[in-house]
Amino acid sequence: MMATQKKYDFIFTGFGASSCILVQEMHRKGMLVNKSILVLDPSTKKANDKTYCFWALKEAEIVNDYRSLISHNWTKMAIDDAAGQDIGPLNYFHINSLDLYEASKVLLRSYDTTFILENVRSIENDGDTYVKTDSCQYIGIAVFDSRPPEMNKIRSSDQNILQSFVGYKVRLKNVALNKDTCTLMDFNVAQQGYTQFVYILPYSEDSALVELTRFGKQPISHKEAKEVLETYILEKYGDFEIEEVEKGVIPMCIDLPKLKKIKGVIPIGTRASKVKPSTGYAFKNMHEHAKSLCSSRAIIKKPKRFRLYDRLLILILALWPEKGRPVFQQLFRAKNTVYVLGFLDEKTSLWEDIKMFYKLPIGLFLKACLVLGFKKSKQTLVLFTPLFLYFILALFWPDLAVSTMYFILVLGLVLIGIPHGAMDHMTEAFSTSKKITFPFLFKYLGLMLAVYLLWILSPTIALISFLTYSAWHFGETDTEEWGILPPFIGMLWGCLFFVGLLSSHVSELNSVLALLDVGELGASVYYENCFLLVMLLSLGVSRYFKSYRMLSLVAFLFVSQWLPLVVAFGIYFIFHHSYNGWSHLKSSLGKSNLELFKNALPFNVGAFALFLFFFLNQDASLESNVSLFFVFISCISFPHILCMHRFYALRRKK
Ligand SMILES: Cc1cc2nc3c(=O)[nH]c(=O)nc-3n(C[C@H](O)[C@H](O)[C@H](O)COP(=O)(O)OP(=O)(O)OC[C@H]3O[C@@H](n4cnc5c(N)ncnc54)[C@H](O)[C@@H]3O)c2cc1C
Repeated sequence: MMATQKKYDFIFTGFGASSCILVQEMHRKGMLVNKSILVLDPSTKKANDKTYCFWALKEAEIVNDYRSLISHNWTKMAIDDAAGQDIGPLNYFHINSLDLYEASKVLLRSYDTTFILENVRSIENDGDTYVKTDSCQYIGIAVFDSRPPEMNKIRSSDQNILQSFVGYKVRLKNVALNKDTCTLMDFNVAQQGYTQFVYILPYSEDSALVELTRFGKQPISHKEAKEVLETYILEKYGDFEIEEVEKGVIPMCIDLPKLKKIKGVIPIGTRASKVKPSTGYAFKNMHEHAKSLCSSRAIIKKPKRFRLYDRLLILILALWPEKGRPVFQQLFRAKNTVYVLGFLDEKTSLWEDIKMFYKLPIGLFLKACLVLGFKKSKQTLVLFTPLFLYFILALFWPDLAVSTMYFILVLGLVLIGIPHGAMDHMTEAFSTSKKITFPFLFKYLGLMLAVYLLWILSPTIALISFLTYSAWHFGETDTEEWGILPPFIGMLWGCLFFVGLLSSHVSELNSVLALLDVGELGASVYYENCFLLVMLLSLGVSRYFKSYRMLSLVAFLFVSQWLPLVVAFGIYFIFHHSYNGWSHLKSSLGKSNLELFKNALPFNVGAFALFLFFFLNQDASLESNVSLFFVFISCISFPHILCMHRFYALRRKK
C-alpha cells in the first residue's frame, strides 16, 4: 500500500519580508497553533540583505507590532543638501532584514515547522495544492506564494522600469553625523542619463548607510555605482571604510505579469503587487495585507487616481529621465515633507493633489497625460481611423467609399497583412533555427497542400475548418493583446467575432458561399437575434475581464453591420489582427520594423509568387478569382496559425 503524503496546513514558498510579516501576524492571531507548517526557500536567510524603512506615527499599529525589531528611527528628513525638516508627528523607522528573518524563524520553531532549502519550480492544484521543487513535491492546504514575479516576463516599457540601488554601510573617520536626520533624496550626483539620487540613513555619529538609487530602464551596476558613491562620500564626509554592501532591484511596474489564479494559493509581497510602483516602498502594504488575510478586516481601497499619478511619474522617468530630478525637487520644495509622505501614502484629498500638481512642472505632466492617452488608445485609433474614413466617404461620395477602401485594404495587405505572416520561420514552430530551412519549408508547404486537397475533396468541411482555425487564431492573438489568460476565452471570442460578423452580413455571405460551391444559408429572422446574442455575450466577457480594449472591438463589431462584409473583415484583419501580430513579434524578437521587413522578405516574395502562380493559371472570371483567393488564403493561413500558436506559447513561458 502506498503511504499517503503528508499534507501541510500552511506552506510558505519564499521566506522573505512578506512571509515573515504574515507569520508574525498569524502568530499574533493564534493561527499557527496545532498547525503543520512548511517553509521552502533556497536561501538560508542568514544575511542582512535589506533594510526596511517606513514612516508612521509613533503610536501606529505597525510600530507596536514591530517595536522589538525597530533598530533606528529618525525624526527629521532632508532633501538634497537642505537641513532636515521635522516630520512630526511621524517618525521614519528602520528594521534590519536579518532581525526580521531571525525573529520569524524563532517564532516558527515554537510550532510544528519544517524548513527546507529548496527552489520552488511550480505550484499546481489538482484537487490538492502541489508545490513542486527541483527534487520533490509537497501538498499544502493553504500556500502563501512570495516568489518574486518573473522579471524576464516584465517587458521593459514606458510603464515598467526599475528601481535599482547599491548601498554602502560605511564607517566615517572624521565627520560627526546628525543621527536624527535621514536624507530621503540627494540629487547632487551625476545623473548618467537616468534619475539618480543618494539615500542616507545615519545609524550613529560615525556610521551610515549611503545608497545610490537609480530609476530607469536599466539597473545600475556595482561598477557604475562604485565610482559615483565613492566620490560622493569622499567629497561629503572624507575618509571612510565600507562595512557592508546592499544591492537590490525593485520593479517599478504598473502592470506586473498577470498571475494564473490557483485554488489554495495566495500570492503575497511583491508577487501580489504590494510594492508601490513609483516609490518601491512595500513594508506597510505587506503589513496591511497580512492583517487583512488574518482577519475579516478588508484592505482600504485607495482612490484610483493614485494609480494614474504612478503611471504618469513612471512614464516621465522612462521617457524624460532628466526631468525626474526637477520633478522631485519641486515636489519637496512646494510642499512640506509630512504632506509629501501623506501623498505617497495615497491619503491626500483630490483638492490637495490639484494644488500640489499646480506647483509642479504642470506642462510636463500634461504632456505625459497626452502620451499616455495616445499609447493607451493607439490600437483603437488604428482600428477606428479607416472605419471613420469609410463612413465620411460614404456620406459624401458613396461611389468612392468602397473603391477607396479596397485600395487601402490591398495596400494594407501588401504592407502588413502578408508580412505579419511572413515571419513564421522566426517562431520556432517547425524548427529552432530561425532561418528558412528545407525541413521547415517542406512541412509548411505540406500543410498548405493538405488544406488545398481538403478544398477539392469537400469544400464544406474545408470551409468549416478554415473558419474554426481562423476563429481560434484571431481569438488567440486578441486575448494575448488584452492580457486575458484562459485559452478557451480566445476561442470563444474568435467564434463570437465570426458569428457576429457573418450573421450581420448574411446575403453577402451567401454570395461567397455560392462562389465556393458550398450550400447557402436560408432566409431567417434568427440571424438578427444571433447578432444580438453575440453582442450581449461579448459585452459580458469584456465586462468580466474589465477589458476596455475588448470593449472597443465589440463596438467595432457592432458598427461593422453597416459596412460591406469584405471591408469590415479587411479592416479588422489588417488594422487590428495583423497590426497586433506584427507588434507581438516585434516586441518578442526585439527587432525594429525595418529588420522585421527584411526577415519577412523571403516569405513575402514566396507568398506573392505563389499567388501569381495560382492566378495566372485562371480565366479572368470574378467567381473563379474570388473563390481561388479564398482557398489561397485558407491554405497559407493554416501553417501560419500553428506557428503563431507555438510562438504565443513560448512567449508566455518566457
Ligand atoms: C534592497 C531592498 C531594500 C528595500 N527597502 C525597502 C524599504 O526600506 N521599505 C519598504 O517599504 N520596502 C523596501 N523594499 C521593497 C520591499 O519591501 C522588499 O522588496 C521586500 O523584501 C518584498 O518582500 P517579498 O516577500 O515580496 O520578497 P523578498 O523579501 O525578496 O522574499 C522573496 C523570497 O523568495 C525566495 N525565493 C525566490 N525564488 C524562489 C523560489 N523559486 N522558490 C522558493 N523561494 C524563492 C527568495 O530567496 C526570498 O527569500 C526594499 C527592497 C529591496 C530589494
